[in-house]
Amino acid sequence: MGEQQGRLVVVSGPSGVGKGTLLQKLCDRHGSHLRVSISATTRSPRPHEVHGREYFFYSRTDFEKQLALGEFLEWAEYAGNLYGTPRPAVMDWISQGELVLLEIELQGARQVAQSYPAAYRIFIAPPSLAVLEDRLRQRFTESESVIAQRVAIAREELAAAAEFDCTIINDDLEEALGELELAVFGGGAIP
Ligand code: ADP
Ligand code: 5GP
Repeated sequence: MGEQQGRLVVVSGPSGVGKGTLLQKLCDRHGSHLRVSISATTRSPRPHEVHGREYFFYSRTDFEKQLALGEFLEWAEYAGNLYGTPRPAVMDWISQGELVLLEIELQGARQVAQSYPAAYRIFIAPPSLAVLEDRLRQRFTESESVIAQRVAIAREELAAAAEFDCTIINDDLEEALGELELAVFGGGAIP
């Protein structure tokens, strides 16, 4: 990326670790200094989720059409659903010099490492697998079988933490948020 370009930051980590919670808090504090990409997915919306806010909810056919058109910066199949980062918005923001955050799973994070080596990649880890499972359960958004599937994927994702530029353990939320601010903005430059 050239001198006028913005920055791409990837936030990854297993489902239920608190990525969404941390990014929401980061936006509450620094919303005018960053952009968070809105992904597309074939997953059904959870009760509170709104098309165009949490995700763009597509049918598999529509997602695959977009995929064939090369509309995704990265994409992955996760627990039976497709997820992808729409390329145009991210590219526009980067070319306008903005700081752009992607909240994506491991396969997508690996694709970004290949296609945008300048991207800074942050891994959010839970204090333990048991805590992660508790958080997934306490969220009341997935069935037991989906929770089991997500915990199984989490084991693989946790084994890949060392691939990232830094790891933040989300135990105490405020502490983790402070570490995320430092990782995203750099020491001394938190707006
Ligand atoms: P993700 O986006 O990574 O799937 P969420 O942000 O939805 O995870 O968080 C999963 C659950 O864990 C939510 O119910 C959230 O309120 C809770 N949570 C997040 N961070 C913490 C934390 N540091 N301590 C306790 N609970 C947390
Ligand atoms: P959820 O169904 O809990 O919203 O998301 C499941 C997983 O998909 C999470 O790890 C989340 O970070 C990831 N995810 C969300 N959007 C994208 C995306 O655009 N690309 C990829 N690769 N993963 C995504």
